[in-house]
Amino acid sequence: MKDASDLTFMAAALEQARAGEATPGGAQVGAVLVENGHIVCSSFHEGDLQSDPTAHAEMVGIRRLCKERRSTSLKGVTVYCTLQPCGMCTMACLWAGVSRIVYGASRNDVNSVYFESRHFDTADFINQAFRDDLEVKGGVLSDECATFYLKPEETAPIDPAHDFTSIL
Ligand SMILES: [Zn+2]
Repeated sequence: MKDASDLTFMAAALEQARAGEATPGGAQVGAVLVENGHIVCSSFHEGDLQSDPTAHAEMVGIRRLCKERRSTSLKGVTVYCTLQPCGMCTMACLWAGVSRIVYGASRNDVNSVYFESRHFDTADFINQAFRDDLEVKGGVLSDECATFYLKPEETAPIDPAHDFTSIL
């Protein structure tokens, strides 16, 4: 049952990725937050839209739902994301107390440009942090999700945050 609903909700996250791709200043990473079998928040990457390097799809969703509820706790909520959450988003999930993280494409499926230069695996964050009750599941509709992103072997544009030539 959980597997079937994971597919449904990941399909909804893929819709958000499409919406992000079609939105000026948005990008093709989508997320939905689910509680009691219902989508309670949908979001996509809004980095350029908000001029905010932290406006990843998961961060946008967590901020939006917490603000709406005037709460810092998302206990019982599952975060679905088309791409494996980065370190920042994983920690945000931990701080918000979400109960599950489900992602599509993993960091091994896509170009390293989408992740920090030195990246802890999401699972390591969870294991080495302070939550034993947070479930993480990857690889849901991973092929479909990965079509949105550059492949590991493709040449990626230089990300200003990682362009060390500008300071040499
Ligand atoms: Zn992130």
